[in-house]
Amino acid sequence: MNDLTKLVLDYFKQIAAIPRQSGNEQGMQNYLVDYARKHNLRFYQDKHHNVIIYKKTADIEPIILQAHTDMVYVTKNNHFCAKQRKGVKLVKKNHWLFAKDTSLGADDGIGVALILALLDADIPCNIEAVFTASEETTMDGVYHIDVSRLKGKKLICLDGFESNAIVISSASFTDFLVKFNTQMQLLESDYNWFRITLKGLLGGHSGFDIDKARGNSHQLISDLLQHIPDAVLNRMIGGYQFNVIPSESTVVFATKSDEETVDTIVKAFINDHAETYPTLEIDTLKIEKTQQGLKQSENILNFIKEFQYGVLLKDKEDNVLISQNLSEINTEKGTIKIGVRSNIKEKESEILKDLQNLCNKHHLDYEIEDTQPGFATLLKSSLLEDLQSANPLAKKIKMHIAVECGVFQKRIENLDTVIISPTILCAHSIQERLNLDSVELTANWLEKFLTLN
Ligand SMILES: [Zn+2]
Repeated sequence: MNDLTKLVLDYFKQIAAIPRQSGNEQGMQNYLVDYARKHNLRFYQDKHHNVIIYKKTADIEPIILQAHTDMVYVTKNNHFCAKQRKGVKLVKKNHWLFAKDTSLGADDGIGVALILALLDADIPCNIEAVFTASEETTMDGVYHIDVSRLKGKKLICLDGFESNAIVISSASFTDFLVKFNTQMQLLESDYNWFRITLKGLLGGHSGFDIDKARGNSHQLISDLLQHIPDAVLNRMIGGYQFNVIPSESTVVFATKSDEETVDTIVKAFINDHAETYPTLEIDTLKIEKTQQGLKQSENILNFIKEFQYGVLLKDKEDNVLISQNLSEINTEKGTIKIGVRSNIKEKESEILKDLQNLCNKHHLDYEIEDTQPGFATLLKSSLLEDLQSANPLAKKIKMHIAVECGVFQKRIENLDTVIISPTILCAHSIQERLNLDSVELTANWLEKFLTLN
């Protein structure tokens, strides 16, 4: 391990000792301001806990290096901890760094540490080091930072997961909310009533895991209902936020079929799907008559049937470019959450238009709640070329998630941007780990890039 890498890891250790889950970032802001003061570097800070540190020792074009200061702090059994009181204890095993019983916070503490070590390095440079707050929750930092304090037009973000790679695009993310009438209607008394819970799927992140064929519990359960003659929904519940693939759904419904028929249909359905989803479980229970069916039951089920779940478009390198996730459904609130991702800016409105048409077709309302912008490295990018000449082995990749670079590119005109980082596995969980060889590779790569610049 060379001196630069040792320095990076030393800074990482100091950062790990500071509680810094999203929203609790005063400690990190103080630490960074202290660093700037001790090193006699000009800095800027704001009330959102953002910090910018400037180092200019050469009259050259500024380079923006950026990382976020907060972390997702989870403890045993991957529980989200309401308030992080202690720092993270580091454990080294072979070529990997872990935390003892918590998430590690290499996402994105290692980005912060890399920048601090590079600011220490004796290279003629013009660096604008940007440290943003609350990336993991509200992205408040990047949305509010005063970008007029930055002169650079090239930004290297250090918030990635794969080393020896240059991320050249990320996806936008749109929260699309379908809304429907929750009114009920009385059904005849010859209906039988059932509650079915479909569970055991793997769920996951709607960006990282959308192409892993993990199934979507809402799609599967509505597919099952299509097999049950004249099923009418009373309720349908399941899923969480827009970016989570649902693993469990529950429906209460009426049908004129008897218990035996429903059981047979359910068993056949499990058999048909056993190979694709070996952990799939379905609980069926005959319940007392409620006699109330959702007026829009048919509309909802048909909408889900025709909704194109999962990957809609890939490029020839197998990167996902467009996808849709059906997330939370709640017939009591009258809402269906859909998360739409696109790495192709020109396609965004087209996908949303298709969704709107599908809603109209089935007499459902909709609204677009929020959109986070994606980014793309400029077509003729000297930033990309310079990073490639500093490391010819680095491959170009695309990420199918929303990142801060997208917001920076939206807020700073003509900004060129990429993401590079060491290898981090299982971020946001207690299995999170950081590959130490990849830290060395990334540190050397950035040092060489800055030297060539
Ligand atoms: Zn991150």
